[in-house]
Formats: sequence, C-alpha cells, structure tokens
Amino acid sequence: MSDVREVIIIGGGPAGYTAALYTARANMKPLVIEGFQWGGQLMITSDVENYPGYPDGIMGPEMMQEFRRQAERFDVDFITEDVTRVELSDDGQAIYVGDDVYKAHTVIIATGATARQLGLESEVELQGRGVSYCAVCDAAFFRDKNVIVVGGGDSAMEEATFLTKFASKVSLVHRRDEFRASQIMIDRARNDDKLEFVLDSVVTEVLGTEGGTVTGARIENVKTGETTDIPADGFFVAICHDPTTALFTDVLDMDEDGYIITRGKSTETNIKGVFAAGDVQDHVYRQAVTAAASGCMAALDAERYLAAIEHGAGAADEVAA
Ligand code: NDP
Repeated sequence: MSDVREVIIIGGGPAGYTAALYTARANMKPLVIEGFQWGGQLMITSDVENYPGYPDGIMGPEMMQEFRRQAERFDVDFITEDVTRVELSDDGQAIYVGDDVYKAHTVIIATGATARQLGLESEVELQGRGVSYCAVCDAAFFRDKNVIVVGGGDSAMEEATFLTKFASKVSLVHRRDEFRASQIMIDRARNDDKLEFVLDSVVTEVLGTEGGTVTGARIENVKTGETTDIPADGFFVAICHDPTTALFTDVLDMDEDGYIITRGKSTETNIKGVFAAGDVQDHVYRQAVTAAASGCMAALDAERYLAAIEHGAGAADEVAA
C-alpha cells in the first residue's frame, strides 16, 4: 500500500536524526516526526567537547542543527510537531499528529529523556552558563573551581564524586538528612575530602551575573529557615531523568522507571517492527554519542526487519539472528 511508509522516526535528537540519516541512505524515505521542540537535551547545553569529530568543540544547539542538516541532504520528510497518539501492533503502526494519521511498517522511537529541573527561573536563565544536568559532559569546565550538586540519589552521589576529580570543592545540597542513594555510593562520597554535604536544604535561587555565568546559589535550611549563599562557578542538578514514554504506556514493555526495554543487544521492543533508540531506552550512558550510535542500530534493525518480511520471513525473531 503506497500510503504505508517503510519507517517513521519519532524524535529529533541525536538518536532520531542518526536513524533518519541511515534509513534515508538505505532508500527507506523516512518520515521524522521530530517534535515541536526538536533537538533534545543538547539544546540546553553550551559547549560540547566530547563528541568525536569536533576537535574544537561545538555548541549543543549548533550540533543538533548540523545533525538535522546532514539528514536533510537525503530523502527525509520532517514534521515539526508532537505525536499525540500511537497505535502499535505486530501487524502495522499508526502514528497520529492531531487528526492526521501516518502509517508505517516500522517505527523507531527516539523520544529521549529529560533531566528534571528544580523549576527556578534563575536556573533556566543560567542553563548552559554554569547550570548543567550532566557532570560527565561538563565537569572539565570546572577545574579548580567550586561547584554545587543538588540531589540525594545515586546520580547526585556519582556526579558529585566525579566532579571532585576536577573541582577544588563540591557542595552537595540535599533537601533531607537521609539519602535515596545506595550505601556504597554514600560512603564513597563521605570519604571524599573535597566533598561537603549541605543537608536539610533547598536551593531558592541560582545566583549569577546578568547575562553572565553562575556565581553561586542561595540555600534555605528547611529546619531552621536560615538562608546562606554558597559561592560556586558551576551548578549541577542531579535529581533524576524522566524518559519521554507517556505515549507508549501499556503498549511497550518498560522498566520500573519508565524506560523502554529493548531485547538483548538489539533495539527491538516487544512489538514487531517497533524499535527504540537513545536515552528513551538507556538510563546508564546518556551521551549524545551513545544515543547517535543506537539510532544507527535502530535504523539497521528496521532495515533488516523489512528485508526479512520482503523475503517471507515476516518476523522480528528472524531479524535478530
Ligand atoms: P532518584 O529518584 O533516585 O533520586 C532523586 C534525588 O533528587 C532524591 O534524593 C530526591 O530527594 C531529589 N529530588 C527530587 N526532586 C527534587 C527537587 N525538586 N528538589 C530537590 N531535590 C529533589 O534519581 P537518580 O537520578 O539519582 O537515580 C535514578 C535511578 O538510576 C535510580 O534507580 C538509581 O539507583 C539509578 N542510578 C544508578 C547509578 C549507579 O548505580 N551507578 C548512578 C545513577 C543512577 P528525596 O530523596 O527527598 O526525594
């Protein structure tokens, strides 16, 4: 049927655009429904120094434009709107954008994840200018400087401990005096001389110079009401990520945190012809380069799935072989 596409890609981040590039070059004429706010998490990042191929670094939003531009060179259709509903089944896929329906034999889900934010105006204003959601990405910018990390889970402990390799001092601010993190991670953080705990405390404002960078944070002790300013050059928020998977609830298998489960080393989901790539199925690595790589994998998996159907195999099981 001519109105059924070979592949629809949902999501416009590193995984989605890489899947677009690969499927387009495989003559699959992909439709990318990239979302109203395409670009993903890199749109709130400034310098990216850890993506291979950019030896001088590149700004996050510029890198995403380059990803998109590279896909545009080939036969790719884009819709810059959000998907509103999906009907996924072993027999075929229907993706809705409002009243418009798009059908496909395969779908690649690359809707990513979002770092939870504190919800402060000052936090948003200083994003990419000292406010960061990824220590692995940005720690090296804070060599011999003071930084603040917010959170009390494994992410906060891991990021704070990692940051002590670069920063001269790390203040870990947590709203309670008990942690959600595992004991081993807490012990590791406690034994780190460069790390201080600021407990029972919430951040009421990220401090910064107008149009400039972070200079610290205003903290309120929730038990005493006392307010203190902690001077710092970097402000890391590590209070969890949320995968963008609401559209797929009760349809795709997910883990307890809502990440899509993929089979083995492939990008296959529990529905034939539906693949998932990037942060939406990865809460471990969460890097642009790993997301892009898994977008490539999903494209190859989708291509092989279609080839298997064409040759009469008709099942994802045979593709995985
Ligand atoms: P978690 O949900 O485990 O912890 C989030 C932390 O942030 C909590 O301490 C929470 O406080 C705090 N928090 C949440 N919202 C706010 C807010 N608005 N203001 C201030 N503080 C807030 O998320 P993580 O990202 O740490 O971990 C997610 C999952 O990933 C976990 O299962 C974790 O074990 C896993 N993980 C494992 C790692 C490893 O093993 N190496 C590394 C990183 C993550 P409160 O406790 O008061 O609710």
